[in-house]
Amino acid sequence: RAKREGPGTLCFFEAALEQRLMERRALERDLRTAIERGELHLAYQPQFDTQSLEMTGAEALLRWNHPRRGAVSPGEFVPVAEESGLILPLGRWVLDTACAEAMRWPIPCRVAVNISPAQFRQPDLLPAISGLLERTGLPPHRLKMEVTEGLLIDDTERALTILQALKRMGIALSLDDFGTGYSSLGYLRRFPFDEIKIDQSFVRGLGRDVESAAIVEAVLALSRSLGISVVAEGVETEQQLEMLRSRGCPRVQGYLLGRPVPSAALFHSAGAGLVPGPMGQPAGLA
Ligand code: C2E
Ligand code: MG
Ligand code: MG
Ligand code: MG
Repeated sequence: RAKREGPGTLCFFEAALEQRLMERRALERDLRTAIERGELHLAYQPQFDTQSLEMTGAEALLRWNHPRRGAVSPGEFVPVAEESGLILPLGRWVLDTACAEAMRWPIPCRVAVNISPAQFRQPDLLPAISGLLERTGLPPHRLKMEVTEGLLIDDTERALTILQALKRMGIALSLDDFGTGYSSLGYLRRFPFDEIKIDQSFVRGLGRDVESAAIVEAVLALSRSLGISVVAEGVETEQQLEMLRSRGCPRVQGYLLGRPVPSAALFHSAGAGLVPGPMGQPAGLA
């Protein structure tokens, strides 16, 4: 019986797998031309000081308007870009565009850019970044790079060297999605991060489960004693904001205060009646 069921089952999975592979290949092919065709743009999501609700900066988030499929989520195409190597030209485009657009903002606040591990492995990352800053005129302290824990594990020594060099250039460093990956606390000691981003899964749990509140409190206590700033991601409700505020979380980001919007709309839509504030002192972050 097993023999009779086996092949049929296998065929079903093979067909599903093949379908997925074909979709992936199509996505990869389309992504190859997306930059030249102008199908990509960046949306910026504001970040706020939790106490004053002044805007302290914004995170650049990649958007792809596919000619047939419409908006494709970066959660779907960034992994494809990473596996195919397309993340290198794509990541370059993101950095270039984010720095150029931030130069046109009416207030000199910071722009945060997500950086893939593969971008870090590029041998010419550092000269490329200095070239980019020179070309766009963006002062290095206005650029923040968000990286995830995966980067720190793959090639720890090299990652450390590059992060230190970026830091020496004056670029701020942020540890994204904190708590979701391998989260060795030792990383916070060894690596020169200016900021931790508490992952939205913990923020979502605030007011729902005691574990999330305990984790958020632990991260805040740890960051205070290490002198590292914190941004809580994915703040959607007043209750979450209040819980973060009362626990001393310095910064927040989320739909409650501002969704990702095109650069030109950022300073009009940054929350109801919220006035963008001055950039936090670079030293204040460290
Ligand atoms: P991330 O860097 O952790 O970005 C935060 C994600 O949470 C964004 O999703 C943002 O739109 C979403 N978000 C913000 N506030 C809320 C909220 O209140 N509620 C909910 N439910 N979601 C919220 P997005 O734009 O879909 O990006 C997903 C991920 O794709 C990013 O996670 C990042 O890992 C990656 N990504 C996006 N842009 C880039 C890029 O330019 N380069 C690279 N390498 N990765 C990128
Ligand atoms: Mg991010
Ligand atoms: Mg994140
Ligand atoms: Mg994420």
